[in-house]
Amino acid sequence: MAAARPASTEIAELRRRHSELELLIETVQDRTSTLSTHDVIARLVDRTLVHLDSEIASVLTVEPDESLRILHAVGLPLEIVRETRSRVGEGIAGHVADSGEALLIQDVESDPRFSRRNHERYYTHSCISAPLVYGGRVRGVINVNNKQSREPFLPEDLRLLGALAGHAAVALANANRFEELLERAQRDALTGLANHGHFWTVLETEIKRASRHGRPLALVLIDVDHFKRFNDHNGHLKGDGALFQVARTIAERSRAHDLAARYGGEEFGVLLPETEAAGAASFGEKIRQAVECLALPEVQGDEPLTVSVGVSSVEQAGCDARALVEAADSELYRAKAAGRNRVCAPAD
Ligand code: GH3
Ligand code: MG
Ligand code: MG
Repeated sequence: MAAARPASTEIAELRRRHSELELLIETVQDRTSTLSTHDVIARLVDRTLVHLDSEIASVLTVEPDESLRILHAVGLPLEIVRETRSRVGEGIAGHVADSGEALLIQDVESDPRFSRRNHERYYTHSCISAPLVYGGRVRGVINVNNKQSREPFLPEDLRLLGALAGHAAVALANANRFEELLERAQRDALTGLANHGHFWTVLETEIKRASRHGRPLALVLIDVDHFKRFNDHNGHLKGDGALFQVARTIAERSRAHDLAARYGGEEFGVLLPETEAAGAASFGEKIRQAVECLALPEVQGDEPLTVSVGVSSVEQAGCDARALVEAADSELYRAKAAGRNRVCAPAD
């Protein structure tokens, strides 16, 4: 017959189970309440640390090349987070990613899978690690070290971490899918550039930023010349291919902080933060020349494809989104009227 357990042990066990349930309910709520990958992971790590009464936790993702990258960590210095590189199959997290099984290690010192690199930071010799599995694949790993009580982790700690990781993986997959959809909703399907809607969203933000900090901001509008004629001569499919090439020409010459967009039809817009009208005009001239030199495959006729370019800037148009677009539009009109294949800017 089993010996009766003292009431205090039972109360402690009930408290632990209650805390486990609370944690799982909170994590399930995250699956619907938050849609950013970073938020999902940050919440998982914070809750794990509180409920497992621990100091160090990290979440690693399994990248397509089978490397493991630390996505979020608490209790580890930044240089360790930046430097730590591991692979599936290497170290404790790599082992968990490989096997898909959660792991409780009582004594890391005697475990050959443990990396000695950070080992002075761990004052307990015990750690737990669980895989983030979604759609039958291991997408990441969560590691927990340093119990505040300095006791080793228990099998029930591992069970709780495993349950948490299961819910977090679903939340993470939802967040990833949402971010992918958002990204797709901001892109133009033919050219891959930002679309008209996203262009205006960024324009409004950049105008505010330029106005608040008194910084320069320029806009370049690019319109393909006689494109109706190009379509008539070459067909719409070649027309689509030509628009793709023009878009690529623009994207390749834009800086990381510029925003290149398909404004509509055969018109493109590039927002150039920290750029005055003269700089934007020389960017426009680079694009004009590059498009003129494009070797478009199997296109009939000798005439090269050309673009006309209109430039505006907040110095001259003021910090107003519509005024900036109108000013670039009227410079573009001037470029067309002056014979096309040219750049017009306010100072000309
Ligand atoms: P301009 O030099 O005055 O700009 O003359 P244009 O012929 O380029 O201007 P217009 O506005 O008369 O015609 C624009 C053409 O661009 C007509 C339209 O069919 C074509 N176009 C717009 N979007 C697309 C597209 O996605 N694919 C293709 N192939 N053609 C497109
Ligand atoms: Mg046009
Ligand atoms: Mg045109």
